[in-house]
This record gives sequence, C-alpha cells and structure tokens, in this order.
Amino acid sequence: MATASIKRFLGGVLVMGLVVGNVVPIKPAYAQREAADKIVVAHRGASGYLPEHTLPAVAMAYAMGADFMEQDVVMTRDDQLIVWHDLTLDRNTDVRNQFPGRARDDGRHYVVDFDLAELRQLKVTEGYRLNDSGVEEQIYPQRFPLWQGSFQIHTFAEQLQMVQGLNRASGQDIGIYPEIKSPAFHHDNGKDISTAIISELKRFGYTSKDSNVFLQTFEYDELKRVHDEVFPALGVELKLVQLMGDDEEYQWMLSASGMRDLARYADGVGPEKGMIISPDSTRNGLIISSLVSDAHQAGMQVHPYTFRQDEGQIVPYADNFEHMLELFFFEANVDGLFTDFPDRAVDFLREHD
Ligand code: CA
Repeated sequence: MATASIKRFLGGVLVMGLVVGNVVPIKPAYAQREAADKIVVAHRGASGYLPEHTLPAVAMAYAMGADFMEQDVVMTRDDQLIVWHDLTLDRNTDVRNQFPGRARDDGRHYVVDFDLAELRQLKVTEGYRLNDSGVEEQIYPQRFPLWQGSFQIHTFAEQLQMVQGLNRASGQDIGIYPEIKSPAFHHDNGKDISTAIISELKRFGYTSKDSNVFLQTFEYDELKRVHDEVFPALGVELKLVQLMGDDEEYQWMLSASGMRDLARYADGVGPEKGMIISPDSTRNGLIISSLVSDAHQAGMQVHPYTFRQDEGQIVPYADNFEHMLELFFFEANVDGLFTDFPDRAVDFLREHD
C-alpha cells in the first residue's frame, strides 16, 4: 500500500469515527483495497457518449477498459429479453409516432405490450422528455444529439454475444452485470423474467460464483426467490447484488445485523451513492455512513450508482468528477461503481494504482 493510500485510509477511518462514534475493525479480506482491485461498471454501456443500451455504447465501453458491462433486462410480449432500462419506451424511442393507439391509460407505451419484431422497428435515441408544450427536450443536453445516427433495440443474447465475442478477440475476460428489472411488474404481467434471464446466462456459460457476472435487482423478495428457488431449479449459482435506494423498504438492511441477514443471499450491495456519503457533506466535513463497513463486515462488496460528469451531477462537496471518484473509492472505500463515463473512472484508477 502506498503512503498516500495509507493517509487516505486513515483519513477515512477518522471521518467515519467522528460520524458513527466508534471505529469497527475491518476484516483482512476487505481491508483497504488497492486501486487495481476496484472495478468500473459501464452503466448502460458508455452511456455518457452514445445512446444508452445500444450495441455501439457497449463496444465503446469495452474499448475504454471497463471491467463490467451493465445490462438492464426487460421482457417483451412474446417473451423475448431485451436490454432496456425503462419498462416503457417513451423516453428513448419514436414509439408514439410509429405505434399510435398502443399506449396504456397512463399514456405510456410498455415493452411488455410489444413483440420483439415491433420493437426492432423503433428508432432509439438519447433520453428526452416532452415539455408542457409537447416539445422534445433532451435530458442531458450536452450528450449525443437527439435522433442523430441509427440505433436500435437489441436482445440480451445479442449483447452477450457482443461481450463474449470481444472477450475472444481481445483475450480478456470482461464481466457482465445484468439487472432483473421490476420482477414484480413482470410477474403481474404473467412473466417470470428471473428464470428467463438466468436460463439465458446458463446457456452462455455463466453458471457459478466464479463466473464473471453479478446479477442485480432492487427487489429483495425476488433476490431471495432467485437464491432459494430459481438457482437450485436451474442448477446454477451466481453472485447476487441487492440494489438499494434511500427508501423505507431498504431501511432494515442498513445496520450491521441487517447486512448480515442480507449476506445470506447477496454477495454485494448497490446503493445510491448518497447513502454512503451524505449529500449534506461539505468540502471540510465528509459525512460517511457505516454502510460500506457494515457490508464489508458481512463479507459483501459495495458498488454504488451512478457517477456522471454532466452539469449538475457532481456532488457539491467535490471539486470535480475525479475528486468525486477519489472520495468514494478511497475515503468511503467502495469496491467499484457504476458510471456513464467509464473511460474517466478507468483512467482515474490506473493513475492511482
Ligand atoms: Ca440498472
């Protein structure tokens, strides 16, 4: 460990000590990790540069040196798995123009109401919303221009073929980080998306905890069901990550004993980053929660989301994007993080190795 790292480590402990009142010993396996051991997850591909969850965005993230490619996975009406973030199509496609009359009562077009062949006709673009006048407004205005280029929806299998093909061609073993999107919603629509995703992972050779995959979901009940029922039924066992937001349903997990209970099922947690370093922190007073140390004590890794360099996305207590990464990687001691800008995080870790 470099002297600078030790200083950062001690600084982190002191800050934690001030906040939580006592300093808990860190298990040797999770003592301060070197930069080389920490991971960068390309959030929806290199989504800061190209429309999210498109194959070009995956190829770009791969070339940038990300350790894991993230895929959000949603199921179509004809039971196909696609890589897509929302349950709906409105934020990133021209669906309202191509399929008038197909919205639900809430005015939104749901993936689960369309067949794959229909979804492949859609033009995919950067995220946008309609303002009060019905005019399209790009959510991140500095990113890839709306409607420029030619991008399409692709299947989960097509993305796995892309990653595995690049692994073969480059001699690397870059991992995947699929998310089971809204399993309860899929169950309500008659679909067991978890079994479909894990069957597909098995078909592509991801079958054990040694496989280079983290399987994530926000829904604890489904995480438990996957662990207790779906894995045994399919004869596989993969690393599981419990995603969490700053909501009531996750409060029970946020203690040493809660993390121990969670660790019976999960290998890692993916919290919203404000749950680790409080947004009320200042440049001279970081407020670091016990989340990371509690998770580490329970033997789990911690991969917070989402790190963006767009205007308004840098936390106010950091000077810039790299400083924000430094605070999370080395003061809060996270094991990895989700970012729309994987090149910047990869470069940061290489420079601190
Ligand atoms: Ca996700």
